[in-house]
Amino acid sequence: MNAGPQITRLPLPAAAPGSPRHLTVVRYGAADARPKAYLQAALHADEIPGLLVLHHLRMLLDSVAARGEVVGQVVINPYANPIGLAQNVNATLLGRYALSGAGNFNRQYPDVVDAVAKKVLNTLGNDAGANVATIRRAANEALEARAPLGDTDRLRLTLMRLAADADIVLDLHCDEEALLHVYMGTPLWPAGSDLSAQLGSRATLLATRSGGSPFDEAVGGLWWELAERFPQKPVPPACLSATVELRGEADVRDDVARADAENLLAFLKRRGLVAGDPGPLPRALSDATPLEGVDIVRAPVQGVVSYTRSLGEQVSAGDVVAVIVDPGAEDPKTARTEVRTVATGLLFTRRSARFARSGDVLVKVAGGTPLAERVGGSLLSD
Ligand SMILES: [Zn+2]
Repeated sequence: MNAGPQITRLPLPAAAPGSPRHLTVVRYGAADARPKAYLQAALHADEIPGLLVLHHLRMLLDSVAARGEVVGQVVINPYANPIGLAQNVNATLLGRYALSGAGNFNRQYPDVVDAVAKKVLNTLGNDAGANVATIRRAANEALEARAPLGDTDRLRLTLMRLAADADIVLDLHCDEEALLHVYMGTPLWPAGSDLSAQLGSRATLLATRSGGSPFDEAVGGLWWELAERFPQKPVPPACLSATVELRGEADVRDDVARADAENLLAFLKRRGLVAGDPGPLPRALSDATPLEGVDIVRAPVQGVVSYTRSLGEQVSAGDVVAVIVDPGAEDPKTARTEVRTVATGLLFTRRSARFARSGDVLVKVAGGTPLAERVGGSLLSD
């Protein structure tokens, strides 16, 4: 009975009079089927790998849907950010931040914890499954009741509405130069370790509250925030919500994207959304580490960036990871500034531009233990 996917267009505020925008949403499986997965790409607009991965995933899902093997519901939103995709400046697509001033496209997602808590206060019981259904209904209602002004806030709300009642939410991003890595809520580990293992993730970074309300945490965090408020009632972390960083911005290749899509399909099979054998779970390439253990190494001065360590290297606290050179210094002997990491672990991202201003992020190192200066702070580089 499962034929092709259902494709719908969700209207967004017009960019200008006469220039309507919309999201194109592709759904496989029945609208009420469970489990439900929601996948989106390019929320930061200029992060292209996920677009190609979702293209390949759609081709794979077309085949399994034609055989009637989509037993859950898979919702794909390939262009999650039409606003950002229109930001061409100096012949370059500029994503990440809204040029309108509305901030980072992956921050400030609606917080409906208070509204949902109020709605479910007298209806939560001792049946975890019933509580999940109650909370999903309340979350949908709370999001329906919102009516923000501004096109970026409308986009944020529309994306939340697509994802809020899902069992699995995967937000596909990339870094500048990077190994494949995953951000996930601490309460989702180790139950979510099959995602990291299947994707071949080199680092999985866990946080309960990373600050700034990014998309994955606004969707997934609702569950552990409510569990904290209602400790006497069973409220499981019912949405495996993760940000998947598909390597670096230039890592866009059909063969790599096809392999990533095949891994996503295997994950969907293992999670019961698609019929069939997912095959053996690959051996995990890394264990999860705390996001508080990631050293976000910033440039102390401006200048030319020359890296001394490569992606994938294990580094130790105190190691020099880059040198910043000021070719205009009065004395060339003082022109070179060494930049060190304070973490011991995997160097998993690097800035691609080779000139940095003071404060720019140069590299990230995933250490196994929380860093004192990170604990309690905002954990994401904006
Ligand atoms: Zn991103």
